[in-house]
Amino acid sequence: MRPASPLHHRARLLCLYVGVPLVTCLGSPGVPVAAQEAEVFAVRYGTIRGFPLRGLLPDAPEGERIDIALAVWVVRSADRVVLFDTGFFRESWFERFDVRDFVRPDRAIASLGIAPGDVTDVVVSHAHWDHMGGLELFPAATAWIQREEFVYYTGQAWQQGARRGGIDAADVVHLVQRNTQGLVRLVDGDGVEIIPGLTVHTGSRHTFASQYLHVAGAAPIVLASDNVYLWRAIEEGRASATFEPDDRDGNVAAARRMVQLAGDVGRVIPGHDPDTFVRFPEVGEGVVRIR
Ligand SMILES: [Zn+2]
Repeated sequence: MRPASPLHHRARLLCLYVGVPLVTCLGSPGVPVAAQEAEVFAVRYGTIRGFPLRGLLPDAPEGERIDIALAVWVVRSADRVVLFDTGFFRESWFERFDVRDFVRPDRAIASLGIAPGDVTDVVVSHAHWDHMGGLELFPAATAWIQREEFVYYTGQAWQQGARRGGIDAADVVHLVQRNTQGLVRLVDGDGVEIIPGLTVHTGSRHTFASQYLHVAGAAPIVLASDNVYLWRAIEEGRASATFEPDDRDGNVAAARRMVQLAGDVGRVIPGHDPDTFVRFPEVGEGVVRIR
């Protein structure tokens, strides 16, 4: 994994040395410790019943189905509330999938005491309907997306013959509008620390330029989103769905790298695994504490 910067170490040592309460350190301006100690939660906003397993693991037997979790993730530190992905709410998707127990994502985070306006930042893993579709529910947040993802899905994707599966045109229109409001930050590639302690990574692409999020700390967390759908993909070395259909080896390698970055497979959190809500303690309605 990328080592924590010397500044992180220095800041933490200083806190211990002078014996001040940790919270004092977290509040110190210019000291990037806050995200290291950030809380991480998964918030379930629904279930898709009977999703074809082959859509998640290309080598799965035909006809096998699974109930998958719909989730967003919250990283909360002393001075920021960061949402990783935003879910969706547009009606047309309820006609295409058997969605159960839906709670609109901006309401689902209320069990953490978070109002939509409290969300300072949204990290968009990729532009698919069930991840970027709720962006406009968080009107004040700065949205972070890979530049190549933004450029492709606002342009070339809509040309004849181009690939845009799972992309909702209304989401793209909102993204463009949000950019005109100065609320979109375009990220260039792999290993970029966008917020102190929060680093985005790219790898095998789930969409044109998907990204995942590493949360630094004593127990680092990797929020994979759909770059890995299920734990069994990592544990059994199986590929998840990728933008390039034949990039299975690349996807497996990317998942291995996530495990290295997190230091433990249990701290790599897949995008749709219902087991997330079994493995971690429940702290509210549909909410589990990952860290
Ligand atoms: Zn998804």
